Amino acid sequence: MKVVETFLSIQAEGMFSGRYAFFIRFAGCNFNCTGFGVKKDNFIGCDTIKAVQTKAYLHTYFDYNADELIALVKKQKSNPLIVITGGEPLLLQNDKEFVKLLSFLTLNYDVQFESNASIKLKEYDFYKKCYFAMGVKLANSGVKKELRINKDAIFSIIKNSKKAFFKFVINDEKDLDELYEIINDFKDTSVYLMPMGSTSKELSLNAKKVFELCVKHSFNYSDRLHIRIYDDKEGV
Ligand code: SF4
Repeated sequence: MKVVETFLSIQAEGMFSGRYAFFIRFAGCNFNCTGFGVKKDNFIGCDTIKAVQTKAYLHTYFDYNADELIALVKKQKSNPLIVITGGEPLLLQNDKEFVKLLSFLTLNYDVQFESNASIKLKEYDFYKKCYFAMGVKLANSGVKKELRINKDAIFSIIKNSKKAFFKFVINDEKDLDELYEIINDFKDTSVYLMPMGSTSKELSLNAKKVFELCVKHSFNYSDRLHIRIYDDKEGV
């Protein structure tokens, strides 16, 4: 399995925000969200360009099997939350090593996926012990609507996981029309709104507006602690 990075940190977003966590970032994504406008090495995309532009960064990846990743996880103290992220980690769900890894992790740790929720979950038993942050992409991602919104995939994640929640980065109240179009079919699923911004300064400018939108529309607010503390630094 191609891995961009592993690191110990604090979960920065969503329902586990603030929790001590070990991150495994897999390479590969089915989207390229150029709308987010992050520039790195002649590419434009999201803040994990290294995970998305697999050809360009292949030489920087680690090639781990399940046992090697399990050994890395076991070295961490105090049972961190394990965050499985990318790119899009569900691209690996047919890989036997991935299945072996998740089968072990879910027996011993709390496991949370970060997914764009566009890929249907296979009916593995271990998913029943996993939490899913569904970061369904909005039009501002630059990805075509028919690709980024897959309600069958969202339904499969909600149905087959321990708990799933939506999280959206919001710039303005008008973004909510698009959001409601997605969540209206999944009314019992929690929603977290987060402020737009790639630096602490930008985040602060938007935080109050998004906080007040959460109260007005009965959503949860999530800050983005990694940006608040480290701006756009990677691997934190
Ligand atoms: S889906 Fe996520 S990881 Fe993939 S390109 Fe978009 S923001 Fe980046």
